[in-house]
Amino acid sequence: MRYLSTRGHPDRKRFCEILLEGLAPDGGLYLPESYPQVDAATLQKWSGLKYHELAFEILSLYIDDIPAGDLQAICRKTYTAEVFGTPEIVPLKKLELGTGSESKRLYLQALSNGPTLAFKDMAMQLLGNLFEYELARRGEELNILGATSGDTGSAAEYAMKGKKGVRVFMTSPNGRMSPFQQAQMFSLQDANIYNLAIDGVFDDCQDIVKAVSNDLEFKRKYRIGTVNSINWARLVAQVVYYFAGYFQAAAQRVSFTVPSGNFGNICAGHVARMMGLPIDTLVLATNENNVLDEFLRTGVYRVRSAADTHETSSPSMDISKASNFERFVFDLLGRDGARVKSLFSEQIAATGQFDLSADPAFKQLRERYGFVSGSSTHADRLATIRSTFESSHIIIDTHTADGVKVAFEHLQPGVPMIVLETALPIKFAATIVEALGREPDRPAALAGIESLPRRVTVLPADVQQVKGFIATHCA
Ligand SMILES: *Cc1c(COP(=O)(O)O)cnc(C)c1O
Repeated sequence: MRYLSTRGHPDRKRFCEILLEGLAPDGGLYLPESYPQVDAATLQKWSGLKYHELAFEILSLYIDDIPAGDLQAICRKTYTAEVFGTPEIVPLKKLELGTGSESKRLYLQALSNGPTLAFKDMAMQLLGNLFEYELARRGEELNILGATSGDTGSAAEYAMKGKKGVRVFMTSPNGRMSPFQQAQMFSLQDANIYNLAIDGVFDDCQDIVKAVSNDLEFKRKYRIGTVNSINWARLVAQVVYYFAGYFQAAAQRVSFTVPSGNFGNICAGHVARMMGLPIDTLVLATNENNVLDEFLRTGVYRVRSAADTHETSSPSMDISKASNFERFVFDLLGRDGARVKSLFSEQIAATGQFDLSADPAFKQLRERYGFVSGSSTHADRLATIRSTFESSHIIIDTHTADGVKVAFEHLQPGVPMIVLETALPIKFAATIVEALGREPDRPAALAGIESLPRRVTVLPADVQQVKGFIATHCA
């Protein structure tokens, strides 16, 4: 399998070459040259596999530069009941729909029982093991620099902690993450994890990361890398749980609803569908930041300004643009790299938007690609958290609530709907209290993490000081 750029660059690369890279040299995103096809007989064969075995089967279709035995060992070591809480790793839970809806089924797929209680662990835990493996093979080291407002940073730290050859420097806005999220990150005592609390907002953290990455000499000298959501390895790891969800629902076809921000999670669903997994509908759910819902309804993709990006009670979906969306547009436009390049690097740069409403491809969105969408508000989330608790005695988090709300608008008789549960409610306890008047349950392992000793360095929002910190700690 070779990988190409969505902007038409002529290079073709192998998996381990793109594993440690971010964007392609022309600013595009990497995608496989083609999607391997999975037929009914293969699906039948895979349906009884354990999760780590299924992961190996799917990943080996995309990775041909790691020996099979090694890849198998990496999958087995990553997807364990100890790390993900259950032998199924991603179990389905049925939601009650009440009388009169016997032909309809609605499930939650639990993707949030990993170490940081959000679905990002599903991919990041694999990435940690792949990075350690590949860096050891090359005899290299990597210093991961990132900016986080919550879920991504903690998932990266828990995946990379204690890994040989890797250090993590994670910036976050000082005092602005939830107390639980701060405790999760800052209580890590591993020597290769550095928390940098920046006196500023999330944008300041992102600007610092950009400035450091744009200093090519510094970047090379200190072997700076990233683990952001455009990494193809993260995306392909997420393809696996769509297959696992399909097998558990035991139906001819299923639909998925995906609480979406940067389009990473649902892009993995698109890839699974392109491989031949019988997915009827891919329902994209947004919160008030409805960039993607607007595109799927109207054909207009319009990047929001900072002033037009809302702070919501499902904060991990608060985006102004969707960094993985270019991958889907590439497929939608018949893999025309020149056209994608002009849309994303010229039109967006010049006008902040593009319009595909008149394009024949856009008119086939539902029919050929299965995409539909919807959005929700804070009031919708509160109502959905309440009604789900009342009917099924399950407390869902605010992001999952965005999904459940929109899923109800797209239920079809005979086609089970699986809503991806993207976080556990304890991460967003304040909104749960607002909805239910009670605290969500906390997994026993996380009791009292707020009072553990903290390992964090506070720095001003200053690129030189962050560079200085990295240089001192890379020696
Ligand atoms: C990251 C995240 C999302 C959004 O996922 P994308 O892949 O960016 O679309 C949704 N919910 C939670 C809890 C998240 O952490």
